[in-house]
Amino acid sequence: MAKKRDYYDILGVSKGASKDELKKSYRKTALKYHPDRNPDDKGAEAKFKEAAEAYEVLSDEQKRARYDQYGHAGMSNQGGGGQHGGFGNMEDIFSQFSDIFGGGGGGRQQQQQRGQRGSNLRIKVSLTLEEINEGATKKIKVKKYIGCNTCGGSGAKDRNSVKTCHTCNGSGYVRRVQQTFLGQMQTTAACPTCHGSGEIITNKCTSCKGEGRVYGEEMINLEIPAGVSEGMQLSMNGKGNSGVNGGGSGDLLINIKEKEHEHFTRDGSNILYELDVNFADAALGTSMEVPTLTGKVKITLPQGTPSGKIFRLRGKGLPSIQSYGKGDQLIHVNIWVPTSFTPEEKKALEVIRKGKSFQPSDAEKRERKGLFDKMKDFFGG
Ligand SMILES: [Zn+2]
Ligand SMILES: [Zn+2]
Repeated sequence: MAKKRDYYDILGVSKGASKDELKKSYRKTALKYHPDRNPDDKGAEAKFKEAAEAYEVLSDEQKRARYDQYGHAGMSNQGGGGQHGGFGNMEDIFSQFSDIFGGGGGGRQQQQQRGQRGSNLRIKVSLTLEEINEGATKKIKVKKYIGCNTCGGSGAKDRNSVKTCHTCNGSGYVRRVQQTFLGQMQTTAACPTCHGSGEIITNKCTSCKGEGRVYGEEMINLEIPAGVSEGMQLSMNGKGNSGVNGGGSGDLLINIKEKEHEHFTRDGSNILYELDVNFADAALGTSMEVPTLTGKVKITLPQGTPSGKIFRLRGKGLPSIQSYGKGDQLIHVNIWVPTSFTPEEKKALEVIRKGKSFQPSDAEKRERKGLFDKMKDFFGG
């Protein structure tokens, strides 16, 4: 358990708050973080529970007095309080608020689910930049709980082994009347006898021991859209672990990893490429082939190509997952300087060294300064 926040802070009231203020503030907080308004938001759910707990304590005079005196330490051991559960059960909290949200339109407690939902499954998928560029289909063998073939997921040995639950008469839920600050409320909860299935199994399937699922593996076809990036998470509904006793399956969550590329670095939807150019080629100009994600492309270096020059191949980058169009490939020129020479080469270099045209002019120096700034942009420095 993480460190608990102060109950008054949670509800945003002062220590001397009246019962009315507490009620109002709790209502506001609970509505704000209600799970129906924040679907799949664990943070909101936690805040919702936290507020319920805070209100449960502060709305009770005895508990509040004890909390004021001892803080959270006074709450951990309830002693003679004997309150069973309080707001601990999410389902109770949901049902308590369902009427505020328009009389069961999307009331969560209404969705009776049979069995217990399977858990989510996480896998990692590593992709090359080429695969990210085109989108990829991957067949992956996933080890997980799958539905039991013997019993078709029911968990029962045969048809005669399934009986209607007597506690709930097959409905799967039981109704309870509960006192809340909004008055008396009827709440529904999963039947404790059949756990919501409405049925009791008298003879269990021997393959799955009555769970309706077994541990196995499944081949899954992953369709990965073009333009994904490192750290992105995709999800496939219902491809996680099978549920218990016919409960729905969890989801398969796919974490995207990017494989390092031998030539390229990725920068958003742009592709960066470092091109080493022999200084004679840079001086005289030449044409050369450079790799792209979709094969080689010929580029022309004009006479006197300076080091640091950036060429842009439009549309040779990656697609973006949110929008149309593609990024570019940026080619960054590095003038490569040789470190050892034959005697003839050395002689030639001595000639070049003395040549007047091999010293940059002031104008060229100024231009170089501009290039350096461009490089800084290029590398985000
Ligand atoms: Zn079975
Ligand atoms: Zn039942």
